[in-house]
Amino acid sequence: MIGATAASVLARPAFGGTAPRVVVVGAGFGGATTARTLAAGGVDVTLVEAAERYIACTGSNAVVVGLRGIDAQTFGYEALARTGLRFVRATATGVDPTARRLSLGDGTALPFDRLILAPGIDLRFDVVPGYDERAAAAMPHAWKAGEQTVLLARQLEAMPEGGTVVISAPANPYRCPPGPYERASLIAHFLKTRKPKAKLVLLDAKDTFSKQKLFEAAWAKLYPDVLEYVPLASGGAVTEVDSAAMVVRTDFAEYKADVACIIPPQRAGRIAAQAGCTDRSGWCPIDPVTFESRLVPGIHVIGDAAIAGAMPKSAFSANSQAKVCAQAVIDLLAGRKPESPKLINTCWSLVAPGNGISIAGVFRPTDGLLADVPGAGGISPIDAPDEVRAQEAAYGESWYRTITRDVFG
Ligand code: FAD
Repeated sequence: MIGATAASVLARPAFGGTAPRVVVVGAGFGGATTARTLAAGGVDVTLVEAAERYIACTGSNAVVVGLRGIDAQTFGYEALARTGLRFVRATATGVDPTARRLSLGDGTALPFDRLILAPGIDLRFDVVPGYDERAAAAMPHAWKAGEQTVLLARQLEAMPEGGTVVISAPANPYRCPPGPYERASLIAHFLKTRKPKAKLVLLDAKDTFSKQKLFEAAWAKLYPDVLEYVPLASGGAVTEVDSAAMVVRTDFAEYKADVACIIPPQRAGRIAAQAGCTDRSGWCPIDPVTFESRLVPGIHVIGDAAIAGAMPKSAFSANSQAKVCAQAVIDLLAGRKPESPKLINTCWSLVAPGNGISIAGVFRPTDGLLADVPGAGGISPIDAPDEVRAQEAAYGESWYRTITRDVFG
């Protein structure tokens, strides 16, 4: 799965008698994985997480259209807390990189030798005029799974026949590049089967996107009368929303929506900025071998918050990066030079229930960034028969079961 061998990942570190302390912030796909990998390597590790339970975004588009319940996305931290790490339920509120201390919301602080930040994303409510946190209660983003996901599902269920759904997808980079298109596909399927006179408009702030040919072929075949795609070149960028009137505006048109899902631009979770690890883009530049911040020595950043070159912001990527980062930290603490890694990402999407497509990539450090390994990885064939699409959907579901057991089980 990663460049470092299983043997080296599991090798016991030799720290010369002292016990260096590693603190990890965020128990999502990235942070939980890196913390348990470090604990398995004999490191004294404390994992800090604000939420009581983890609610996974991966698979949550199926919740939006009633194909599964939010319970299937929800994981407790009990099993993780028994893997040899120290689990602290608290919000990390600040970092002193010189004194190497992490402040917590309850007024206490944790000392560290190395800190790993895996806080995921914050949604930017300062970019699309009219789209603030209050507007999100009427026009859900559902880009952090939980209440927002359930709200969007309820709105779709309650929408009148013949209504209009508007989705807006942001410019790059953002969490889960194919996510908005999977969501559009599943909502189009929902409308086609449940509200056949309804329409879906997908407004996009860009002209190209992940698995585009596959999505567009599926839309032409399955949803020609339901889904209208409006790319940037045709005026897809949202310039304003009015959540009271349920109106979404672009430079070219005004859309009156019965249900509007606005996915706003994003940035690294706040603690990354508080630690000084974000650049002007709002994301965190990192060394691709160790995931150490390019801006603050001794702090590593993994998962969605990091600028990981060609690697997409996905749960699969976060899990791969977490293992590489843990091994690099073990090596650095032991005074060894970390090996240059190879990392993998595979991303499955549904274009309809039981109808899946995928893209896979292999990445390695090149010129200071994570770059695609040419010729490695691949994408589903455009003309695959239905049986292959059904298999891909099953592989995606089975990957979800495996990764969530790997991370939270
Ligand atoms: P997160 O999983 O968001 O975890 C961050 C954790 O940090 C959270 O638990 C949060 O509570 C905690 N935290 C944040 N700040 C603090 C703080 N200051 N103190 C304490 N705790 C804190 N990926 C895939 O690989 N496959 C898919 O099919 C897929 N589908 C998706 C579908 C949708 C609709 C969406 C929105 C995303 C999807 N993703 C998918 C992307 C995936 O969910 C993310 O890339 C992944 O969750 C990133 O992991 P992370 O560990 O970086 O962040």
